[in-house]
Amino acid sequence: MEIKTMGVIGSGQMGGGIAQVAAMGGITVIMNDIAPEFVERGLSVITGNFQRNVDKGKLTADEKNAILGRIKTSTSLKDMAGADFVVEAATEKEPIKAQIFRDLDSICKPQAILATNTSSIPIGRIAAQTKRPEKVIGMHFMNPVPVMKLVEVIRGIATSDETFKATWDLSIRLGKTPAEANDYPGFIANRILLPMINEAIYCLYHGVGKREDIDTVMKLGMNHPMGPLALADLIGLDTCLAIMETLFDGFKDSKYRPCPLLRKYVEAGWLGKKTKKGFYDYE
Ligand code: NAD
Repeated sequence: MEIKTMGVIGSGQMGGGIAQVAAMGGITVIMNDIAPEFVERGLSVITGNFQRNVDKGKLTADEKNAILGRIKTSTSLKDMAGADFVVEAATEKEPIKAQIFRDLDSICKPQAILATNTSSIPIGRIAAQTKRPEKVIGMHFMNPVPVMKLVEVIRGIATSDETFKATWDLSIRLGKTPAEANDYPGFIANRILLPMINEAIYCLYHGVGKREDIDTVMKLGMNHPMGPLALADLIGLDTCLAIMETLFDGFKDSKYRPCPLLRKYVEAGWLGKKTKKGFYDYE
């Protein structure tokens, strides 16, 4: 199956990154969000990333303009009618994703594949919103998308081999290394990562260590490139909480209970880097 046009739903940190790597891979991208200011913000982050590469001599101005010329912006899902492949990267809330998939199913051509970049919501539940569950799949990029090599490709119970292969091949085309996972809460990446981050937040909550000490222990002691609290800020504390809730709901096991301090930060609107305040300050 040839993928010439890709839709990206959500122009936040993940959607923007996915649009960027797809355009770099020669694909025409339609990048969507709910309001023009969100799409413009996403496009300006991408433009800034390319400009830095031009300044460093890694890209010519002509190449930059050619890649940017492949990204069209949209605030209506109807613009996805011509897409061969759509990756949804909207806010990690199940009702939002459910509505998007119902709409995409009625708008997109029958052969189009509908992928979700969800961090943890079951692929089977998202697929069940559509009349094409065999064409629905998890395509889980890592943050920041242009830098991180992994794409976790998650098969829902109904995902066809053809859909799986097209998604696997697309990941490689975008310069990524895919890994296969099955559809259980958190898949592989967040089933392992988020309980570790949540435990680091518990260490802060219980006063076991200060934020810098917790991060230093994991960086220098475990050779992690970033400490778990700085990583939580990068992921977004709202997304971290949403993933922990999905793990807790999915397994009904108290070891996945979200730390009350994480909930408190999210309730205060301290979502990490994207709001300039989380476990660290980014002003
Ligand atoms: P974000 O908050 O930066 O961006 C989400 C964007 O979705 C916002 O711009 C918002 O306006 C938009 N949106 C909300 N409802 C929409 C709708 N109905 N239609 C179109 N756009 C809509 O969040 P993010 O970090 O980019 O996360 C997006 C998705 O990627 C989530 O499912 C998240 O779990 C997943 N993810 C995040 C990370 C991470 O590290 N942040 C990593 C992997 C996967």
